Amino acid sequence: MKFPSLNTQILLGALLGIMIGFALVSIGKDSVLTKTSLYAANLVGTFFIDLLKMVLIPLVFTSITVGVANLHAHKQIHRVWVSTLSFFVFSMSVAIVVGLMANALFHTGKGLHLEMFQNAMANFAAKQQTPSDFFTHFLHGLFMNPFTALAQGDVLAVLIFALFLGVALVVGGERYKNILVLLQEFLDLIMQMVRWIMTIAPFGIMALLITLMVTQDVALLGTLGKFAVVVSGSLLFHGALLLPLILYVVTGMTPWRFWHGAREALVTAFATSSSSATLPITLRCVEHNLHVRKEIAQFVIPLGATINMDGTALYEATAALFVANLVGIDLDLTQQLIVFFTAMFAAIGAPGIPSAGMVTMVMVLQSVGLPAEAIAILLPIDRLLDTLRTAANVEGDMIGSLVVQKIVYSKGSNT
Ligand code: ASP
Repeated sequence: MKFPSLNTQILLGALLGIMIGFALVSIGKDSVLTKTSLYAANLVGTFFIDLLKMVLIPLVFTSITVGVANLHAHKQIHRVWVSTLSFFVFSMSVAIVVGLMANALFHTGKGLHLEMFQNAMANFAAKQQTPSDFFTHFLHGLFMNPFTALAQGDVLAVLIFALFLGVALVVGGERYKNILVLLQEFLDLIMQMVRWIMTIAPFGIMALLITLMVTQDVALLGTLGKFAVVVSGSLLFHGALLLPLILYVVTGMTPWRFWHGAREALVTAFATSSSSATLPITLRCVEHNLHVRKEIAQFVIPLGATINMDGTALYEATAALFVANLVGIDLDLTQQLIVFFTAMFAAIGAPGIPSAGMVTMVMVLQSVGLPAEAIAILLPIDRLLDTLRTAANVEGDMIGSLVVQKIVYSKGSNT
């Protein structure tokens, strides 16, 4: 019998995880079997995420530096920059509009039990963070001693330093050729490690999904059901329809072909709820399965994992309107525009880790005078919604790399 491919193994792992999770929940959360299984699943899941995080920082550092330096070699640097950033802004804008429209259609939050909301507000003191505070903080965090950033695992600051270093290597040209070769080889080595880590991905994903199923308070989904359904539906609409449509229109690649190549990364994003932890796998998928050229992938994917978050942007906008409905405020057009822009900044500023979007959402709420404490009622179901949100984030990055490749290497480019 032929051994199933890694792709199939990962899908099987995910399905098994969900099934075992269901079975354990029906046995009862207090049974010895459930507790023991949860302990084991937690151990395996954490081990898998730790392995991914272990390679994350060296990967971002080398891949961005080498990516920028190699781009110049192709005389495409300007085109890549502009098309990458334009695509990110465009796809996040589409996502936010989907979120706003879904809310206009379904009015989530209207008529929801106010008692529960008030209890949540009473027990939660949100940190005050105005948009200007957020912006100052965000800007301040961009530039750091690279050794501190590397040691603290600060992805955004590492990325900025790597961008500078890449540009410096380009400007230095021949003189620094050896450093570039060294970094390129280092990157190849890290990707070798990613290949090893991938072999345990099916078990890691299974374990993460078991933990998710057993530890989440699914009953709460009932109360916040409509909101959860609208968010999930809009994320699916964006991820399963709009993004593939954009991909098809620009590159001619069919959704099936894309999903076939992308599913390892999508399933991992779903299970880990972290675009950063998924990054090594995303990079592997676009390079190996979707045949994005190295120099494009190594630049677009790490940058996208850090700043391009369609799912988060959509969620921030939907959740802000949900809270507005909950407190009985109708946001006018100007206020909705403010939500649009702050949701985009909040998504850009959110690190690719679980529930990061919840933290930056405080800013979106406060920008239109909504009580930040309201996120307390969204927190209990956040981990569940974060699964789809992160998958949409990662999908946006992968489609971005394909679109940018098409734009850069279409006729008229001089490579
Ligand atoms: N978990 C998301 C990610 O890693 C960020 C968020 O929306 O919380 O992409």
